[in-house]
Amino acid sequence: MEKKKIEITLGTGNEHKVFEINTIVTSLGYDNIQFIPAPKEFNPIENGSTFEENSYIKAKEGAKLSGKITLADDSGLCIDALNGAPGLFSARYAGTQEAKIKRVLSELEGVNNRKAKFVCSMTLVNETGEIIHSTKGECHGQIIYERKGTNGFGYDPIFLPDGYNITLAEMSEEGKNSISHRGHALEKMLEFISKEVL
Ligand code: IMP
Repeated sequence: MEKKKIEITLGTGNEHKVFEINTIVTSLGYDNIQFIPAPKEFNPIENGSTFEENSYIKAKEGAKLSGKITLADDSGLCIDALNGAPGLFSARYAGTQEAKIKRVLSELEGVNNRKAKFVCSMTLVNETGEIIHSTKGECHGQIIYERKGTNGFGYDPIFLPDGYNITLAEMSEEGKNSISHRGHALEKMLEFISKEVL
């Protein structure tokens, strides 16, 4: 019998995210699930007070514009010694990524507790924007004292995941995906989709 296929809108304006998520989907063997970009008018106001709320806002907007089942994620870096900052403001912590890293390093100057985690919330909604399922993934580690590595994006060069002696920015894309917050949240979501939606 032929496998049932499904196309799901991804609630993001970021083409790279669509590519990255489809790469994980294929590497996990879900060749019957494909994510497609949200229509280009996609521009939700992310004014939620948690990662969960923001992922729901993005998913709802994607479903409204595309009329399809939609998945969206919201993620960020939470640093213990900064009371969870930059958290929801990870993307807006400074003007450029370079400046965001600089700001984190200067706020942690003289601080010994370097514990941090990346968090990712994912929400799947149906065609009319009702929540079908939510998942969460975390990646725990430490903020190091200077940048290392050039792969990945965002705060990857200063994040040393627990159990590794290289930063996320020194890992291959596959290596990072297998331990990342986004990878974990997506794996749980794909399991749900293949069992309950297909
Ligand atoms: P978004 O919700 O996935 O767009 O992520 C918001 C912000 O969190 C990004 O702009 C990055 O600054 C930060 N961030 C999220 N995930 C990662 C990651 O895997 N590595 C580094 N930074 C990340």
